[in-house]
Amino acid sequence: MADRYALIGNPVAHSKSPWIHAEFARATGQDLSYGAIEAPLEGFARAVEAFRAAGGKGLNVTLPFKQEAYALCAEVSERARPARAVNTLVLREKIFGDNTDGVGLVRDLAGNLKLDPRGKRLLLMGAGGAAQGVVGALLGAGVSRLVIANRTAARAEALAARFSGAQGCGYDALAPGFDIVVNATSAGLSGAAPTLPRAILGPGVLAYEMVYGRDTPFLAAARAAGARACDGLGMLVEQAAESFFLWRGVRPATAPVLERLRRG
Ligand code: NAP
Repeated sequence: MADRYALIGNPVAHSKSPWIHAEFARATGQDLSYGAIEAPLEGFARAVEAFRAAGGKGLNVTLPFKQEAYALCAEVSERARPARAVNTLVLREKIFGDNTDGVGLVRDLAGNLKLDPRGKRLLLMGAGGAAQGVVGALLGAGVSRLVIANRTAARAEALAARFSGAQGCGYDALAPGFDIVVNATSAGLSGAAPTLPRAILGPGVLAYEMVYGRDTPFLAAARAAGARACDGLGMLVEQAAESFFLWRGVRPATAPVLERLRRG
């Protein structure tokens, strides 16, 4: 029987991860299946255990369970520890957790979008699971400045305090002067956007929306301001490739998969 993997979250119905992992498996000749599990909001740990008991080898974890998944792990990677959030579980005898969101974002920026974050001034919006997962990787990639802003400013300040080299604040405290603005909030899912002060977005700025598959108010505002606007589809594919590598020890090519997703 093929080794079983899945995405677990709530909701998961519209996720592209099963298709992406099926493509990776086909391209690399790996015998595996990858499904989607919608766990009840109060039943994440039970759903993980049931999947493991049925022989499941690994899980990707999405909203809103990344922090709960971290707490469930017996061991975590160096990059997951400061994030306190995991998006990848390896279901060994002891559950191992990792976070591939950060490397996924950095590879999308530097590789697919040809904008190396090294030396760049970066604004990260949001302080939830997605933002937590990328701070360490962005600092590791050599950004010259990292400001984390969030609607609930105290959450941004608390997140920044966990990393040397990051500052946290609310949106009203921001001043222009960023090369890259990453929207790691879920506002776009409900047709909203964080309320950024004017002039944060403009020509010469890369506006990166982690939400993918829809035109969000943040992307529209970025285009209207003359910024370069990009969605999070590349990050999705890159983080998936890193999870695939963790599980299978084989690194799939991402460019053909991303190209096919973009073509629709
Ligand atoms: P989360 O833990 O629920 O955090 C949500 C964040 O969004 C919080 O910082 C929250 O601010 C903020 N927020 C929500 N609605 C807002 C609004 N109307 N205005 C301003 N801020 C708002 O979610 P998450 O796990 O971090 O995920 C965030 C997004 O990233 C999701 O849409 C997810 O799909 C996307 N994502 C994409 C990828 C990818 O590969 N492309 C990977 C990971 C995540 P408060 O703290 O003030 O509530």
